[in-house]
Amino acid sequence: MTFTIRSKNNIWYGAFPTLEQAGFVHGCSCRLHGESDVVDGTLNLALHVGDDVTKVLCNRKAFAEAVGVDASRFTTCQQVHGSKVVRVTEEFIGSGAFDFANTIADTDALITNIPDVPLMLFYADCVPVLLADVATGAIGLAHAGWRGTVAHIARKTVRAMQEAFGTTPNDVLAAIGPSIGACCYEVDDFVRDQASGYEEFFLAKGEGKYQLDLWGMNAKQLVEAGVSVENIMVAGVCTNDNKELFCSYRAEQGKTGRMGVCLCSKQARQ
Ligand SMILES: [Zn+2]
Repeated sequence: MTFTIRSKNNIWYGAFPTLEQAGFVHGCSCRLHGESDVVDGTLNLALHVGDDVTKVLCNRKAFAEAVGVDASRFTTCQQVHGSKVVRVTEEFIGSGAFDFANTIADTDALITNIPDVPLMLFYADCVPVLLADVATGAIGLAHAGWRGTVAHIARKTVRAMQEAFGTTPNDVLAAIGPSIGACCYEVDDFVRDQASGYEEFFLAKGEGKYQLDLWGMNAKQLVEAGVSVENIMVAGVCTNDNKELFCSYRAEQGKTGRMGVCLCSKQARQ
């Protein structure tokens, strides 16, 4: 099975068994059984959506314990729908773990080769791209909405791992988490005009409207970066169609929390 959802301590989250078996601790949070003021009772994990900070930190602690990572080492970034990738070195560990003010600014993807650093980004329809180098233990996590996707953030994140850690793309396991599917994601010419070379992922509906397949578009970029097709896992879960389980910006007209996706390498390799 490519992607499964389980619960621990009453916290539900999704995971990719292949990634776990390779030693990469990770989880894609569900919205159930949390404390949140933004949407009552939601496991909102983001500090930037106007929620009560104490409740968000409580939600993060519960999620961290379920997944098996240290909440005080959650390392986050601002997520501005850009394509900047930052290498997380010692001084960045824990950025944004307790206070959005010290999150890594102006950044949408993080990479690191330090063990026990749970990278965590936040999503409500945008595409989580998880990268794990089975040879070096290096990891990468990207936030790919349409803007990040047309700016090639998935490809850039693989390249950044190559440059920083000597990652061989053929050693990378890639996973595309729950996010809005082509079934529910209508965009217009404004988006398509910026996606030269990826027209195949825009299904024409007429009158300048398209259903955009962000999963396919990101997967293609991973292949372009040298990742093997057979190492790319797609959860295939549409957040808009599963808003009881996941936060969906579109399904809830913007008034929603954020699911967190965390990825952590447990041991140094090589
Ligand atoms: Zn859908």
